[in-house]
Amino acid sequence: MTTNVSEPRTSERAREAIAKLSTGVFIDGQWGEAASGARFNVVNPATEEVIATVADGGPEDARRAIETAGRVQKDWAKTAPRERSEILRRAYNLIMARQDELALIMTTEMGKPLAEAKGEVAYAAEYFRWFSEEAVRIGGDFGTSGDGKNRMLVSREPVGPCVFVTPWNFPLAMGTRKLGPAIAAGCTVVFKPAALTPLSSLALVDILVEAGLPAGVVNVVCTTKASSVVTPWMSSGIARKVSFTGSTEVGVRLLQQAAQHVMRSSMELGGNAPFIVFEDADLDRAVEGAVAAKMRNMGEACTAANRIFVQRPVAEEFARRLAARLGALSVGDGAEAGTDVGPLVEEKALRKVQELVHDAVAKGAKVVCGGNRPERPGFFYAPTVLSDVSPEADLMTEEIFGPVAPVVPFDTEEEALRMANDTPFGLVGYLFTQDLDRSFRVGEALEVGMVGLNTGIVANPAAPFGGVKASGLGREGGRMGIDEFLEYKYMAVPRA
Ligand code: NAD
Repeated sequence: MTTNVSEPRTSERAREAIAKLSTGVFIDGQWGEAASGARFNVVNPATEEVIATVADGGPEDARRAIETAGRVQKDWAKTAPRERSEILRRAYNLIMARQDELALIMTTEMGKPLAEAKGEVAYAAEYFRWFSEEAVRIGGDFGTSGDGKNRMLVSREPVGPCVFVTPWNFPLAMGTRKLGPAIAAGCTVVFKPAALTPLSSLALVDILVEAGLPAGVVNVVCTTKASSVVTPWMSSGIARKVSFTGSTEVGVRLLQQAAQHVMRSSMELGGNAPFIVFEDADLDRAVEGAVAAKMRNMGEACTAANRIFVQRPVAEEFARRLAARLGALSVGDGAEAGTDVGPLVEEKALRKVQELVHDAVAKGAKVVCGGNRPERPGFFYAPTVLSDVSPEADLMTEEIFGPVAPVVPFDTEEEALRMANDTPFGLVGYLFTQDLDRSFRVGEALEVGMVGLNTGIVANPAAPFGGVKASGLGREGGRMGIDEFLEYKYMAVPRA
């Protein structure tokens, strides 16, 4: 493991890529400074250096953005589906042509290793390609009423101006997952990316403009005071839909605001994913699945395996093999070749992970590997496996959002299911077994929106992503992803 690197620096190549970006507020097709003139710093979490400043928007910028989205909505809704489709397709091509550069920007603003960042760029682009294909397949329905008196025409219309708020952990994909279907459906957008990682979203704006997106369709305001921008959007009476990805706490607040204007709402919120390994599982496959489900994005994912339940006869062996894999990963600046695990996004995130591990150990957990912070600048935490974790430990109920894998033994299938479902969250669950009946039985009994059966990765643009319970409302991606941006309109036509 790399623990000692002298004077880490952001590379010239990364600085050059970032220097080319527009960093203002983007309203009605124009870049400009925030009305207040304020700017905020963006920091490289691997080196703690400031790498850019971005316009710090406020209520006046928010007002201009939402009024623009409202004004442009009617004309944008009238455009030909093929036109919207081709804008998305061109944007897909442009993203893929710039995959390396976008990945470097992403790694530099949020820490994930370059290979993972490249993976996210491709994943993000795929939402544009997927929804470019859906834009021309928005259907309707036609029928005769049961009493034979009416023809019934059902058409689909764009829901109207949308408010988008996204988190820092997947800075490109969380944006394209919302923008793709909104553009395909004919909705205008006001968009507030996370202040920790605005650069990937700003790069995306330039790409959409180059792809031919008309002025005013997508308006972007970054800010360090989220509510000063988002609350005016929610209370404007202009926005008809909110799509949020982030914590359940903020999601609930936005749902309360959405209720005032009865806005359509999509919420992709927190998770507390159970990862269940039965004694009949292929243990090597389960370990690889756990590495993927735990270590993707340094554990900073809503889909991260948060609680790893392993049937008692194989629990110790599983923890030993997982520790061997995680302990061998190289920790360092994600922009450097050979790095497997980058830094956490900020100091606060690092402190939270340290506190959760401390609490688990105080309640009886054993540290099988890691459990410490490498000595170097940057917000790094060593990949960690904890065994014999008590159900009382705080990390059993809270999202860890870091590279820490708590292994909890169980005896029976009923016990595993009871513990897995004993959470207000229900985004994703993972299940490793070679027993076909058990696969379906447990998969169906898990209270989640998505199940990984013998795999640690579920997200895919062609599949409906989303959760149940406190993990959210609605689905992103898949054939149903565009439904979130469409309303039904029914016309009754008498058969006179
Ligand atoms: P967060 O809720 O703190 O922030 C998310 C976004 O909301 C940011 O843009 C932030 O600026 C904004 N925000 C914060 N306070 C706000 C307010 N009062 N009004 C309006 N906007 C506000 O979450 P985070 O720390 O950025 O992201 C981590 C969380 O996101 C985790 O809980 C994770 O599980 C969740 N997440 C969920 C999914 C999913 O698809 N279900 C995907 C990624 C992340």
